Amino acid sequence: MSLIVQKFGGTSVGTTERIKAVADKIIGFRQQGHSLVIVLSAMSGETNRLIGLAKEMQIEPDARELDVLVSTGEQVTIALLCMALKARGQEARSYTGAQVRILTDNAYTKARIQEIDVERMRADLDQGMVVVVAGFQGVDEDGNITTLGRGGSDTTGVALAAALKADECQIYTDVDGVYTTDPRVVERAKRLDRITFEEMLEMASLGSKVLQIRSVEFAGKYNVPLRVLSSFSDGPGTLITLDEDNSNMEQALVSGIAFNRDEAKLSIRGVPDQPGVASRILSPIGEANIEVDVIVQNVAADNTNDITFTVNRAEMSKAKAILQAVAEELGAREVVADNTVVKVSVVGMGMRSHAGVASKMFKALASENINIEMITTSEIKISVIINEKYLELAVRSLHAAFGLDK
Ligand code: ADP
Ligand code: ASP
Ligand code: MG
Repeated sequence: MSLIVQKFGGTSVGTTERIKAVADKIIGFRQQGHSLVIVLSAMSGETNRLIGLAKEMQIEPDARELDVLVSTGEQVTIALLCMALKARGQEARSYTGAQVRILTDNAYTKARIQEIDVERMRADLDQGMVVVVAGFQGVDEDGNITTLGRGGSDTTGVALAAALKADECQIYTDVDGVYTTDPRVVERAKRLDRITFEEMLEMASLGSKVLQIRSVEFAGKYNVPLRVLSSFSDGPGTLITLDEDNSNMEQALVSGIAFNRDEAKLSIRGVPDQPGVASRILSPIGEANIEVDVIVQNVAADNTNDITFTVNRAEMSKAKAILQAVAEELGAREVVADNTVVKVSVVGMGMRSHAGVASKMFKALASENINIEMITTSEIKISVIINEKYLELAVRSLHAAFGLDK
């Protein structure tokens, strides 16, 4: 008998019928003798709906109140699932994040889990109950409700598995595993039997929202066996593993292709080519809590520089206003913002030992006449910023060029 933490995403609990189907699935696992802690998302669309309501009240909703509001989505599904389980003769008990006491820091809307009280869950499990926990939320030291960032129920699942020392954390979603790229964009994407934590971390941070990045960080840090599976069909899913798969002698150069549509590009042109200028430009952006991603500096012939960087699209206007103030101080020529760019990345452990991945990538994009606006690389990934109108074409052509098509 093993202890399994199972997380079901928004689509999997999107209607009462689907919640009943999850209950049936859970009964099946109980019959196999497993102890179960279930983590649920809100019904699909619900978190967006709640955020929409908040924006009707305040253009930039108060973060504390927003967390009080959006955390309700998950409170609905956990109660409904427990009712469905009881109707099937299975004892179950639901808990919000605060009731478990999933202690987080106080960074509303992007809180980090610090500690989890496992006592009540253990006592319930010992009595044969199924424990059902609201994903995506916690409570800070002062008792304020916090949430963990979009997609945060994955992180709740992995964190509970770590705290309970569960045998496995299973993430049930609307696809049957992790694919070489988003199967909704590339029909020929292939399901991977396994992927390393390192690769999954890159894929998640570069835009593959199948797992929230923090859930992968957590799983790697605490060595939680993690699997992504379908709620709707049976199958082995994808195992996220610590070790590289050495059984395959000819390891693929590239394991997957990720993309992020939420990018915006900002440029400040004609700043003095002097020490300290980059810091004067980027420090106020950082101080405003805006995350900067790709950065490129071009030196012009007249002893001035252009500095270009990307931020999340939602923060472009805020970043532009800051940049305009800096531009005035520095006597820069102009500030330009563009919210029609996206980032496409190739990821693979195989890249570490093989040259030529970049040239292959650029060649594939060139053959489709796709202009590369910015480039950034790390040990196991290469990313390019391109115009959004080329996104699907770029992902499809790279998928084919690196031999990933099914
Ligand atoms: P849930 O509501 O279950 O948390 P999400 O929508 O957050 O589900 O994540 C699942 C979605 O992730 C899939 O429907 C798929 O479109 C998308 N996705 C993006 N990249 C990948 C990938 N490499 N493999 C599988 N799914 C991916
Ligand atoms: N309901 C939250 C969201 O939509 C958390 C999650 O589903 O993981 O982001
Ligand atoms: Mg998700």
